[in-house]
Amino acid sequence: MKGKLIIFSAPSGSGKTTIVKHLLSLNIGLAFSISATSRLPRSIETDGQDYYFLSPEEFKQKIGKGEFLEWEEVYADQFYGTLRSEVERLRNKGIHVLFDIDVVGGVNLKKEFGDDALSVFVKPPSVEELENRLRNRDSDSEEQLQKRIDKSEREISYASQFDYILINDKLDIALKEAEERVLVFLNLAK
Ligand code: ADP
Ligand code: 5GP
Repeated sequence: MKGKLIIFSAPSGSGKTTIVKHLLSLNIGLAFSISATSRLPRSIETDGQDYYFLSPEEFKQKIGKGEFLEWEEVYADQFYGTLRSEVERLRNKGIHVLFDIDVVGGVNLKKEFGDDALSVFVKPPSVEELENRLRNRDSDSEEQLQKRIDKSEREISYASQFDYILINDKLDIALKEAEERVLVFLNLAK
């Protein structure tokens, strides 16, 4: 049996990474789809673990060779993409693959994989709270932060195209809800 796809999308700062890390810690046969990006690593990020960090030229070469299942210029001059080889390698071993990708990528993957994919939109309680979280995370320059906030309203308008909207207000409740949804999707619920 081929592995399934579990897709988390949302505006930056909504809590996708936090939720995805929690799901990985459950040890239920999930693996993270490591994306490629042309943005610079944050101080806490490791190449080959959080992302494959590529130069813009390397990224464009891979686009040319058709190596991406999907890719987006999520912010101006910042490319992000899912490597076909990464996903197939895992799925062929029966491993379910978890994605943390932008809303357009999430909608595209769901369209391509249909019932083999569960797509979840993570919604912050408000844009003000999203800004607080991005500021507290303290991982982006003021300019980067502004780009992320400016984009969030348009991103939120994609929510209805997902299988399920998960509101991340109280973290413990959101983690439990994510866990339950995934277990049901994988037929692992007791
Ligand atoms: P994303 O991957 O969507 O950009 P992160 O998972 O990095 O978001 O979360 C953004 C910041 O908000 C992080 O510092 C994280 O610890 C924090 N955070 C996540 N969920 C909550 C929550 N429910 N309440 C408060 N802070 C949260
Ligand atoms: P960040 O820079 O905060 O890690 O990610 C910025 C945005 O890019 C997030 O919305 C994240 O989900 C998205 N992203 C990460 N990897 C991919 C990918 O492979 N494809 C697409 N389309 N978006 C991605």
